[in-house]
Amino acid sequence: MKGLDQSRPLSLYIHVPFCTRKCDYCAFYSIPLSAAEPGWIDRYVSMILAEIGALSEEWGKPFHTIFIGGGNPGILGYANLRRILEKAEENGMPEEVTVEINPENITPELQGLSDVLTRVSVGIQSMDDEVLRRLGRNASRADNIRALELLSSMPFRWNADIITAVPGESIGRTLKDIEEVASYNPGHISFYCLAFEEGTPLIARETPVGEEAEAEFLEKGWQRLRELGYEHYEVSNFAKSGERCLHNLVYWNLGQYIGFGPGSEGSVGYSTVTSMRDTPEIGRFLSSPELECTPLSSAETEEEFLLVSLRTSDGIRKSGYRERFGRDFDSVYGGQIASIPDGCFTDSPEAFALTEKGFMMLDWIILHLAMGM
Ligand code: SF4
Repeated sequence: MKGLDQSRPLSLYIHVPFCTRKCDYCAFYSIPLSAAEPGWIDRYVSMILAEIGALSEEWGKPFHTIFIGGGNPGILGYANLRRILEKAEENGMPEEVTVEINPENITPELQGLSDVLTRVSVGIQSMDDEVLRRLGRNASRADNIRALELLSSMPFRWNADIITAVPGESIGRTLKDIEEVASYNPGHISFYCLAFEEGTPLIARETPVGEEAEAEFLEKGWQRLRELGYEHYEVSNFAKSGERCLHNLVYWNLGQYIGFGPGSEGSVGYSTVTSMRDTPEIGRFLSSPELECTPLSSAETEEEFLLVSLRTSDGIRKSGYRERFGRDFDSVYGGQIASIPDGCFTDSPEAFALTEKGFMMLDWIILHLAMGM
């Protein structure tokens, strides 16, 4: 495959584009089951198996990590998930293998995948039926409780997603969500503000809480998560010790990964990367999937690198930056850093990283630094 660096690890992302029904806020590429044609799921699984088979043969060694996301991969059923994972693990077991499953699809049989799966991610989003209704989620509070109980008794590492700043919800409600979810002891929690995306039923119906209120929801939520023992290691992600998501760290370090499934993305290479996109539409994907490759220039690669790596609390390691781009970080960015407000970053001879105050103005800081490139 063009641009693939055989000397560096490679991860695999598999996008499952099916959902029971569409949540009101969702702008991901996914098809509600009511709109899926008969046979699509079987043909999708066959196509994914073929794509993984061809890549595994070329790669010839274990993938670093695998993540099956969606959509709702739970819709495929555990037997299909096993077929996909067994195919993807033909060259050996990766360091981490995650599957996203919606609460209503988690059953005790999930445990049967423990020989091919190490981690599960569940979209809880809220523990309140009224908030879940506003979001248009399929799962209820009762479904969420059942999923949390099951996951906490299974041998997987696991993550729970929580959405905050939903119109009509209070900060107290968000804090209760965090506390209740944390009481089941997930090693990892993703915590993020509700996004209002164009073309969704949500944007037509509700009004966002506003930037100031969002900042308050985040600040209070971040504080409570820290108090509960979760390290804030990425803008929207929190982990107990040793529980960071290795697969997502690949994205944030601009590591190599290939995505299969309609609309999924990938990135391979090192000093300059090639970004990839799998056929972005289910009909075309099922007839002839193709990875569309776009080689990025050195400046584009560096911009991409800034964009992802400043999301983590580790930030940019200056020796890694020099190795990758052949330049001295302080010489390139020192001038721009001098005009970032105090308290937004830490800067040492080893690393430059943003603080929580910096996370709040992440977009501005990235733009500001990019101007110094
Ligand atoms: S389950 Fe996830 S991917 Fe599917 S509609 Fe809801 S938010 Fe979107």
